[in-house]
Amino acid sequence: MTLQVPALIVGAGISGLVCAYALRKAGVDALVIEASGRAGGALHSHRRDGYLLELGPQSFSGTAPLLALCSDLGIAREIVQAPRRVPRFVLMAGALKQVPLSPPAFFTSDLVSARTKWAIARDIFGKSTPPEQDESVADFARRKFSAELLDRLVAPFVSGVYAGDPERLSLRSAFPMLHEAEKRKGSVVRGMMAKPREVPRQSPTLLSFHEGTESLARALSIRLAEGLRLNVDVTCIRSTGTAVYAATRSAFGGVNSARPEPSRDAGSAPFQATIQMGGKQETILADNLVIATPADAGGKLLCGLHASFASLLGAIEYASVAVVSLGYRRSEVGHPLTGFGFLAPRSAGRTPAWGFLESGNRLRQCCLACLCFVSAAWPADNRRPRGSRERVEYVESASR
Ligand SMILES: Cc1cc2nc3c(=O)[nH]c(=O)nc-3n(C[C@H](O)[C@H](O)[C@H](O)COP(=O)(O)OP(=O)(O)OC[C@H]3O[C@@H](n4cnc5c(N)ncnc54)[C@H](O)[C@@H]3O)c2cc1C
Repeated sequence: MTLQVPALIVGAGISGLVCAYALRKAGVDALVIEASGRAGGALHSHRRDGYLLELGPQSFSGTAPLLALCSDLGIAREIVQAPRRVPRFVLMAGALKQVPLSPPAFFTSDLVSARTKWAIARDIFGKSTPPEQDESVADFARRKFSAELLDRLVAPFVSGVYAGDPERLSLRSAFPMLHEAEKRKGSVVRGMMAKPREVPRQSPTLLSFHEGTESLARALSIRLAEGLRLNVDVTCIRSTGTAVYAATRSAFGGVNSARPEPSRDAGSAPFQATIQMGGKQETILADNLVIATPADAGGKLLCGLHASFASLLGAIEYASVAVVSLGYRRSEVGHPLTGFGFLAPRSAGRTPAWGFLESGNRLRQCCLACLCFVSAAWPADNRRPRGSRERVEYVESASR
């Protein structure tokens, strides 16, 4: 049997689900196809023995569109916000040190040396010009401030956001506002402070849900109902011969656009997807196609349309991250747990990692969950924990 749909979305991670929901609200009958048995992709929240374990993202940035989506889906009351002013920590010399949250606290803290503080003062009162060519986040931090600031704050923060290596991350792609600030004002600090706030931020902090980040995917799946099909693997996308595709390489090696030629025979659909479902093979015809899979998987699906998709999309690197969740009874932990999370810099003698400590209302009062991400995006060295047991031991020793 061949089904024809106005829009076919491949992948029911958060990208595919939100896209389908927006299209359906706009009156387009979108169908989402998901290879696995659950929707949500990387969003995966799991309850075990009273602990809430996040196997993927821990929180979202509370943007206005996200809050509006939650209201629309009727899950606004399930939102849990990260406390705004509670301290974050950095692991230094075996102890958790509080990250200063205000300029006076920064200049009086012993987190960085007087040399680094002087470099920051020089930025505030001096003037500098960014180089013509883009630079890495690490080069930027060393040029403007110091190697120490890079190691103790910038690199762990970058690991926390991108799980990536600051030596290889482009400043202009990852943190364009820092580059713009220096370009505009000759000072990163002055430029950031003078940044126009066109839209007031409606939510100042990170958020999740009482039952974890997957709640968002579950709510979207319920609304999509028949518009979502699980356990269906899209194996190949072909052109029906009525469309021509153009792929262009962007500055960062990704594909900028893939567009069908506008003129085609009435009644035909430009995309033909082969699907595998319970051992059976079927075909779906689609007027519009959205690929919401990881880039390399999308590249393979699309190579029947244009030879360059597989190599262009396959060349996009993903940082690998191990998630380690540990659960403790509150009485087993000596720390007052007054903070939100910690970062571990390389100089702490360990693989970069960051973690969240949580004891609040999402868990049984007697329990504490400690979630740690261990980034594998860094150059291989002997300190990187490899097996599961080793990762758990590493995280346990880091959190002592
Ligand atoms: C450990 C971890 C922690 C993270 N922490 C955060 C965080 O704290 N905050 C934050 O904002 N972001 C975080 N992220 C990033 C965020 O989770 C992802 O960017 C986001 O979930 C990606 O969603 P997606 O829909 O684009 O892709 P995915 O979630 O990867 O979904 C793609 C889907 O496509 C399906 N698929 C693949 N091939 C096919 C096929 N041939 N046919 C049908 N279906 C197919 C897959 O099964 C999958 O379900 C984290 C990511 C990870 C892995």
